[in-house]
Amino acid sequence: MSIGNNMKVKSIKVFGKGEVGLEETSFAVTADETLVRVTRGGICGSDIHYYQHGGIGDFSLCHPMTLGHEVIGRIHQSGQTVAVNPSKACGKCFYCESGNSNQCVNMEFFGSAMRNPHVDGGFSEYLSVSKQQLVPYDDTISDDVMAFSEPLSVAIHAINQAGGVLGKRVLVTGCGPIGCLIIAACQAAGASEIIGTDLSERCRDIALEMGADKVYSPLESLPTEYTADKGYFDVSFEASAAVQAFHGCIDMTRAKGALVLVGMRPGMVDFPLTKCLAKEINIRGTFRFVSEFETAVRWLEKGKVNPLPLLTRVFPFTQIIDALKLAEDKTSAMKVQLSFERRDEKFI
Ligand code: ZN
Repeated sequence: MSIGNNMKVKSIKVFGKGEVGLEETSFAVTADETLVRVTRGGICGSDIHYYQHGGIGDFSLCHPMTLGHEVIGRIHQSGQTVAVNPSKACGKCFYCESGNSNQCVNMEFFGSAMRNPHVDGGFSEYLSVSKQQLVPYDDTISDDVMAFSEPLSVAIHAINQAGGVLGKRVLVTGCGPIGCLIIAACQAAGASEIIGTDLSERCRDIALEMGADKVYSPLESLPTEYTADKGYFDVSFEASAAVQAFHGCIDMTRAKGALVLVGMRPGMVDFPLTKCLAKEINIRGTFRFVSEFETAVRWLEKGKVNPLPLLTRVFPFTQIIDALKLAEDKTSAMKVQLSFERRDEKFI
């Protein structure tokens, strides 16, 4: 492959429901952007949704789109290892100017059909990206670890939305990849006690490895002290998207505590209005991240969070269907990654 204008680049495209495959297209680096050779990408739940349903939530695909937003790579010119921030905010709107660029009204987020035309994602051999989206990191840290930069930044933003967790008792319902990263980030951020719940024993075991003090199946009875005296936890993170877990969080979060909504589900959810207002529970949403992306890169670089218990398997990107099939199997997969390295290619 020659590097220059109109080179051919392979990308992983979703064409519609159940239709994902490689496509080779002409590629040119946009003026004032940086050419990045992608090395590794993590498959996220949203990529799986596009594959399974041809859309996510209220957004359906209107045209083919490159998947992926958890990517790392190397700057082609220098060989510098970089984590690629998938958010490109406008920097000019009210939200950008007030430091909340995750709410940018003109956001271009990798691999998202929320805007039309859709924004292509990062599962591509090469990317042309704005310099502001690149966070350099120490190249002695493995790709396995650094490809967790984006999901870890989601976890850290959730903690910031809770107002921090230092010295606090924390409940995390749902110990999938994001729930487990919230657990690890809460431990790094000084939570005094971290309890996780999940239906899957495998997920609960990984939650313990990631830093939970105790884990429970929501099907067993949880200690009565969690609901006594108006609740036990200062902060609850609902990361399962299960309605029962949401109700459990409301019962177990103490009066005046915070409940952060992380798990996403379409449609409406009933909720006990009187209980929430009487306990003065602070219910907060959390969406993507702002400066937490840099924080996540530094935390991984310094080993403040070890994400490796979450890594199920790495596939060559050409085996995308096998990778998606494993990633969608919740009984055996946590995080599945794609390697974009080629044997015939040397990086600096
Ligand atoms: Zn903006």
